[in-house]
Amino acid sequence: MPGALSEFESRRRPVLEALAQRKLDALIVASAPNVRYLSGFTGSNGALLVWPGGTVLFTDPRYEIQAAQETDCRVKVARGALYPALMKFAAGKKLKNLGFEAGRVSYEAYEQLRIGLTLNASLTPVSGLVEIIRMVKSEAEIALIEQSVRLNSQAYEKAMRRARPGMSEFELAAEFEYQMRRLGAEKPSFEPVIAAGPRSALPHARPTSNRLGKNQLLLVDVGASREGYASDMTRMAFLGKPGPKVKRLYQAVLEAQLAALDAVRPGVRAEQVDRAARQVLRAAGLGAAFVHSTGHGLGLEIHEPPRIGKRDRTVLAAGMTITVEPGVYLEGFGGVRIEDTVVVTGSGCRILTPTSKELLLLPF
Ligand code: ZN
Ligand code: ZN
Repeated sequence: MPGALSEFESRRRPVLEALAQRKLDALIVASAPNVRYLSGFTGSNGALLVWPGGTVLFTDPRYEIQAAQETDCRVKVARGALYPALMKFAAGKKLKNLGFEAGRVSYEAYEQLRIGLTLNASLTPVSGLVEIIRMVKSEAEIALIEQSVRLNSQAYEKAMRRARPGMSEFELAAEFEYQMRRLGAEKPSFEPVIAAGPRSALPHARPTSNRLGKNQLLLVDVGASREGYASDMTRMAFLGKPGPKVKRLYQAVLEAQLAALDAVRPGVRAEQVDRAARQVLRAAGLGAAFVHSTGHGLGLEIHEPPRIGKRDRTVLAAGMTITVEPGVYLEGFGGVRIEDTVVVTGSGCRILTPTSKELLLLPF
């Protein structure tokens, strides 16, 4: 990432402002995506101590070389567990009121933090502090998400060219993952959801040995990870010639998705976008079949704030990257979902996903 040093510094500045507001001396960052966001470190074992005097990354000897290459922070290599070393360091700096990520620290890790407290020092649980900062993406981040979206769509198109009756969901998932890695993704951003026939009524179906059959809906929800940044897309295919029920469901979901996309602009609350999709489906008599939120933020994680759901009052702002993905699910019949990744702009949104939203008809 060009200009990476200043990018990480500029990400840590709002953390320091949030610490001052909460009267905290320092923040202990435990979540791997937050560690990556604030320091660049991508290893599996890292913790950050962020305070106005600096930021230190604690990791173990396996990551000594990597950490030096990836981060602009000072690196401390701990020979044992990270938290005792971190707490000893914090004590040396006379940092007293320490915030920690309550949702990301195990009970065992919490005990290590607590044991490391010096006299008059305390631990304060915080939640969402870094995640809220992460909601608005920098230009460099948006560029990576856009790359991730593009190669995800390319991999999807290549994989779907090979989809045919008799192929199992496993095989189609393997095809997608193979194509995606060839195109430059390091991994899928989540386990592909590939569900044929009645299984498409399971919103988070895992691929199985189930084979694609005649006159079936096929739901494909896939995402790639590019330099850590996620993409997320759902498209529908039909094996054969769709009947009126499939067409009606598809049309209703498409209209709901377009209505929600239309509602995305800076200044609106996430729940308003959700409502736009829900109203269309309710009018079509499918309100009860829409069992999840309209979308979610995505970035270094596949699901991150804001949640585009019924009661999320987050005000959308330019630079947020979210998905818009209404769906309907009918037990015993199947499900339909259409999902794009979009970025909120100054006046509306830009749809990053280039793939056609027409129901893909696969020849039987
Ligand atoms: Zn998805
Ligand atoms: Zn999604």
